[in-house]
Amino acid sequence: MPDPAKKLKNFFSKACANLHYSPYVRHYLFTSNVKSSVSVSIVVSLLEIFMLVSIFTGAVDSGGMQNQTWVTNHVIAYIILLITSIAMLIYSILFLKSKIKSYFIGYLLKIIFIMIAITFGIYISYTSYDARGQVFAFITMELFSLCILVLHPINTFIVLTSSFALYLYFQNMIMPLSYSIKVNIFTAWIATLLSARNIHHQRRIEAQKGEEIEKINSQLRKNATINELTGIPNFFSFQQTTEKLLKDESVDISDMRFIFMDIENFKNYNEKFGFSKGNEFLKKTGGIVSEVFAGDTVAYFSDDHFIAFSSVKGLSKKLELVKEKIQAEEKSIHLGLKTGLYMPESRNIASNIALDYARYASSSIKKHSIHNVAEYNTHMDIAFSKKQYIINNIDSAIEKGYIQPFYQPLVWAKDGSLCGAEALARWIDPEFGLLSPADFIPILEEYHLIHKLDMHIMREVCRNIRAAYDSNLPILPTSINLSRLDFMLADPVKEVSDCINKYNIKKTDIHIEITESALADSPDEIMKALNSFREQGFSLWLDDFGSGYSSLNVLKDFSFDMMKLDMKFLLRFSDNQKTRPIISSMVELAKKIGMQTLSEGVESPEVFSYLREIGCERLQGYLFGKPMPPEEFRKKITSGEFKVSV
Ligand code: C2E
Ligand code: CA
Ligand code: CA
Repeated sequence: MPDPAKKLKNFFSKACANLHYSPYVRHYLFTSNVKSSVSVSIVVSLLEIFMLVSIFTGAVDSGGMQNQTWVTNHVIAYIILLITSIAMLIYSILFLKSKIKSYFIGYLLKIIFIMIAITFGIYISYTSYDARGQVFAFITMELFSLCILVLHPINTFIVLTSSFALYLYFQNMIMPLSYSIKVNIFTAWIATLLSARNIHHQRRIEAQKGEEIEKINSQLRKNATINELTGIPNFFSFQQTTEKLLKDESVDISDMRFIFMDIENFKNYNEKFGFSKGNEFLKKTGGIVSEVFAGDTVAYFSDDHFIAFSSVKGLSKKLELVKEKIQAEEKSIHLGLKTGLYMPESRNIASNIALDYARYASSSIKKHSIHNVAEYNTHMDIAFSKKQYIINNIDSAIEKGYIQPFYQPLVWAKDGSLCGAEALARWIDPEFGLLSPADFIPILEEYHLIHKLDMHIMREVCRNIRAAYDSNLPILPTSINLSRLDFMLADPVKEVSDCINKYNIKKTDIHIEITESALADSPDEIMKALNSFREQGFSLWLDDFGSGYSSLNVLKDFSFDMMKLDMKFLLRFSDNQKTRPIISSMVELAKKIGMQTLSEGVESPEVFSYLREIGCERLQGYLFGKPMPPEEFRKKITSGEFKVSV
């Protein structure tokens, strides 16, 4: 059983120093008291000076009570109160100017002031020369002490009750108090108590509100500089620190490098273990990078990219260490680290531009290369500016019509007649010539701009189909490619169906291709989007089947109309004994689960006839036609070179 005396003691000690409040609230209450002290002490000091002057000039009418002792005692009382007020004033000003930090002195002064002020009030009232004004000095001092300097309600109660009791006691000594005066004093006690309590309550509420706001602000400040996923600084914070360092003349910039780290094969990690494990891994990597680069500026950039700003001395060792630690975390996948470096050439370079160079250097490292660090050099300038050109000109290229779908024929395996087409993007640029998807798709994905391209291709496809209707040409269902990011950056379901309505074409005229890797550990948005494509009657095609880790899982979780077998299966078709049984079992599997199959990359009659034999329904490949401009594709249909049988 807890000791009740101890509990009581605890309760009072907490109340006295407001210990049950948070430090913020305590500080707020303390500071607001210090602020009030300034005005209280000025007013009290002026009053005391006025009273002293009044006594010395004889302005005070003592009503016959004024003798030498009375005057001396009053003067002493005024002077004591005056000194206390001045001490409080000095402390308060120094505290507010942060010249004095001690809370202890503040508490002490406050207690001394309150005790002296109230004793003074009782004394002056008690020895008052004017019986009608007796109560005023006392009440004024009570108000100064308890309503302006706000105390905890328990303290207010104790101070107020004991001082009122003393006052009553002394007044009663002068002459027994009437019942009505006692009632009046009791009412004054209650009124003072309530107003002191109310003021305390209001201040506490203000303080607590302030605390809430402060909490939110500090969270916002933290969010603004810390990346939530990895718990290490974000790019914004990196930018601020590095720009300060670059401006610092004592930093030798030729010794510094912007470092862009890219985890190699992280995509495979995500595919194999799923996104939440992938995120955990990124968090661990964040820890590794901060640990190895302790003392340097590091941050999380995006995807599986980390950045740092560090001296070139000892840098290769650090990078080697980061790589080893990452590899030690997961041995079943060959994870690597591709790092790009950039030496700032001027103190004015913006960190995002410096990082673009470093990033470019990192992307120049080929897969499986023995080198895993590259420094940006002038040879990279052309390729770098091509990349920057793509990023900066995607909008205008779309607008000016530089980007167009090319059409590649899809044929029936049974007779080689046309069953559809796949729209494949081409960027025909006045400066760089013909750009193929490999030149721009990875860049657009990296910079989260891919939806602009995909939605444009989709619109062009719909427009071309409308034109075919209008010219009475045979209508070929056309496949469009969607990227995983489209679902994050846009609303493809809405865009596609709006476009179909706009051009008044059929849902069956468009097939949606999505790669199996886009579906690995799919977030809900993709699941929902695919379901709604399906509900609206679009045909869903699973692209590049067999190219990743997750092929079979994808089949379990989603239903597709078509399985597009990755062209990788057909590599070394003639000399690899295993190729044929693998392909035929895929086709068989697809049939069992109610899907059709399409083989990509058919380049020879030998492959064609094999695929037909094993029952693969559709084919695509250079044997039947390369991707070509829409006009050429249309001409081949009208000339009869391509026979259509949809
Ligand atoms: P994909 O969807 O698998 O497209 C098939 C790719 O294989 C095309 O390359 C095509 O030209 C090529 N191909 C077709 N038949 C043969 C063949 O017999 N032999 C060989 N060696 N290659 C063949 P392309 O047009 O360069 O496109 C590459 C990839 O870029 C596409 O692969 C697709 O993933 C992506 N892509 C193309 N256009 C778009 C687009 O508009 N949006 C998105 N998101 N991705 C696109
Ligand atoms: Ca495709
Ligand atoms: Ca494909």
